[in-house]
Amino acid sequence: MEVLKCYLFGTSFLLIHCSLSLEQTNTEKMRKNVRLVACIIGLICSGSITVSFAQNNIQNQHSTKSAIIDKALLDKILDKNRQSFKEGKVADYIPELSKANAASVALSVVNSDGTIVSIGDVQQRFTIQSISKIVSLMVAVLENGEEVVFNKMGYYGTDKPFNHFANLETSGKPLNPMMNAGAILTTSLIKGTGEEPFVKIRDMIRFITNNEKIDYSRSVYHSERETGNRNRGMFYLMRNNGLIDGEGEDKLNNYFKQCSIEITAEDLAKIGFFFAHHCVRYDGNKQYYNPDLSQLVQSQMLIAGMYEFSGEYARTVALPSKSGVGGGITVSVPNKMGIGAYSPALDQHGNSVAAYRMILDLVKEKSLGLFN
Ligand code: GLN
Repeated sequence: MEVLKCYLFGTSFLLIHCSLSLEQTNTEKMRKNVRLVACIIGLICSGSITVSFAQNNIQNQHSTKSAIIDKALLDKILDKNRQSFKEGKVADYIPELSKANAASVALSVVNSDGTIVSIGDVQQRFTIQSISKIVSLMVAVLENGEEVVFNKMGYYGTDKPFNHFANLETSGKPLNPMMNAGAILTTSLIKGTGEEPFVKIRDMIRFITNNEKIDYSRSVYHSERETGNRNRGMFYLMRNNGLIDGEGEDKLNNYFKQCSIEITAEDLAKIGFFFAHHCVRYDGNKQYYNPDLSQLVQSQMLIAGMYEFSGEYARTVALPSKSGVGGGITVSVPNKMGIGAYSPALDQHGNSVAAYRMILDLVKEKSLGLFN
């Protein structure tokens, strides 16, 4: 860069010299032109070209690093982290979840051009759990507007686990829509009777994944419903606080059903891609195109998607992500790609150990973090 600058300065100097000699021979038009060229080169040297060169450098660095991800890289990352499930524990507080094969592992990416690469147990279906909260947030905001939804809950981050609800007693409102209390409320704001709100969430997941076969697991749903007294407690507290209206437990059951929806790692990568691309589907379908909504959803994923681990996660992975106790994590790489990772053994925060490590390796390898 500096050598180039010296060269340009030299050329500029020579041209000015030329223009002075031309003055003596009195070739008016030519003299003006040579002076003009000298001035332009002088201006370029004084700064503007430095900026554009610097920008190009940055762009080049970025585009080479974040180029299309291939199977070989995913294979390497999966192999390296395959055994880390041993450091975690499969969730059993919802008894049906404890039946998952702890050693099962899958990693999937939807690249920026919409191509999909998946490895590991790509056919393995598992329940979406809390990852459904980003889709229910989307549906609730589309129907009610952001103001109505966030008048009833906060935009706060948290240092508390996903099932924390003490603030319902103090502020009266859930901290954010990513924790259970906020998500139960978000779903209860979706219009319709009986299971209609659930059907809207399921259909939106079907749309995003372009997979009409998406459905919920009856056995996980019943297991959640039978043992979900803590969630039930939050539901009644919010009813008491005037945040949820109506009779019976249909609204709570819709939350249990949305958590029981079965997906694969590839479906998760498609969900990540959708929110990374202004709600445009991986195949280019723009039916729900909405940059403002994708910003809202990604901001919540960034500050609370991994619960009390979100701050540390923002330091290491630095991307909007959402985990579920089924073992899945979806990641949005804004304007680039979607990542889906699965391994059912969880850490103490309820986030998948191996999925987190695979995401971390991929993000480091390709410099995908927001603050790179
Ligand atoms: N269905 C789970 C629950 O309500 C969802 C929690 C999660 O995935 N973090 O407890």
